[in-house]
Amino acid sequence: MEKISRTRIVDLIKREDFGAIVNVKGWVRTRRGSKKVAFIALNDGSTIYNIQVVADPTAFDEETMKLITTGACLSVNGVMVQSVGSEQKVEIQAREIEILGKCDSAEYPLQKKGHTLEFLREKAHLRLRTNTFGAIFRIRHNMAYAIHTFFHQKGFIYFNTPIITASDCEGAGEMFQVTTKNLYDLKKDESGSITYDDDFFGKMASLTVSGQLEGELGATALGAIYTFGPTFRAENSNTPRHLAEFWMVEPEVAFIEIQENMDLAEEFIKYCVKWALDNCADDLKFLNEMYDKELITRLEGILKEDFVRLSYTEGIKILEDAIKGGHKFEFPVYWGVDLAAEHERYLVEEHFGRPVILTDYPKEIKAFYMRMNEDGKTVRAMDVLFPKIGEIIGGSEREADYDKLLNAIKERNIPMKDMSWYLDTRKFGSCPHSGFGLGFERLILFVTGMANIRDVIPFPRTPGNAEF
Ligand code: ATP
Ligand code: MN
Repeated sequence: MEKISRTRIVDLIKREDFGAIVNVKGWVRTRRGSKKVAFIALNDGSTIYNIQVVADPTAFDEETMKLITTGACLSVNGVMVQSVGSEQKVEIQAREIEILGKCDSAEYPLQKKGHTLEFLREKAHLRLRTNTFGAIFRIRHNMAYAIHTFFHQKGFIYFNTPIITASDCEGAGEMFQVTTKNLYDLKKDESGSITYDDDFFGKMASLTVSGQLEGELGATALGAIYTFGPTFRAENSNTPRHLAEFWMVEPEVAFIEIQENMDLAEEFIKYCVKWALDNCADDLKFLNEMYDKELITRLEGILKEDFVRLSYTEGIKILEDAIKGGHKFEFPVYWGVDLAAEHERYLVEEHFGRPVILTDYPKEIKAFYMRMNEDGKTVRAMDVLFPKIGEIIGGSEREADYDKLLNAIKERNIPMKDMSWYLDTRKFGSCPHSGFGLGFERLILFVTGMANIRDVIPFPRTPGNAEF
């Protein structure tokens, strides 16, 4: 076969130099036609669109024509011509076809007919070859790029916090332990507790549930940082919004208080959504047609409106009034309760009809590091609540006062020996600072309109599932 440099389909479909000889490589999505002509839809992952390859079966050997089946990988040399039949302006009149990889249709699980998302989850190694997952993972890439761009342009430093941690003080969730100990032969002390002095790190270690505490060390030196990395939670919550391994984005900023923290969160999410609308239009259009007819309208809507800013106490009042008005919730509502997703979604979807930033939560249901309000009962927390998702961001202004922070640590019985490095930020040149954590997959859920978090990460890890 003649050697011609490859053109990606995303570039090819924009070209108008008909008559040019081109090469494309990709996987067969469908093949139809007759003895006289074969129409092959080829996709190379660069775009949701297929390129149509038209071949005259009599011009190729029989064996090659037989191997052009759904899933096979081809390299095609041909002439770029104007298309009338296909959805693109361009198609390829094949001159040479090489089968790079054949695909036995009797065994290949992906057929022309649509498959359910549940079925495709079982075939996560191959679902990447579908239109749906191609669209989702191109969007996911774009969101990662948007996030780095947003923070870089604002002068934030990308700061890598540890994935293995020996501090168990975050309290954000159950942790996965990391050990090289022989589990069949565990050394124990007189009281029957496992000893860790002989373990790899000389103490008990786990996978991180958040990079925030180390992020604060970065922010109180570099001014403004963000983390963007894998995060692990061993909670046995089998919901459509929780993963055991997910990616979190955690900006942390010196010299800002809760108001500016809310401004940052709102600007940040709007920037990402606008990026998707500007740069992922083809993929969004596909998802809008196939899964969620409201998707693009919902994304555009987010950009137009200011997020509601409301205190937890006012939020509880609205929920109580809703109950008085006859609305039924599964879980009880009272001041002090940790809101369930149904409560969050009521405020966002039914009461206000736009995103809500809920602030000033009771200290008992929030982490020790949040700044205490004057009332002594609430802390400067801020959760950003989104339609269809519930909590997408959790953040706060941090307690900058050494004594108050120490007090909060003691109140919660957090072991002090683990915390001295963190307290040093308040001991040596403390400053007001704030930050938040965005669950990357929750953002992707929102932007793609998908309903299950297992469908927006390539290889989901959930209780009982670590395939691939
Ligand atoms: P939730 O109440 O929804 O379980 P959380 O309050 O435990 O979340 P935070 O500790 O505030 O979560 O973490 C910050 C953000 O990380 C959350 O707002 C959410 O977007 C995301 N997040 C938290 N846990 C998970 C998870 N298990 N899987 C995916 N994303 C998560
Ligand atoms: Mn939270």
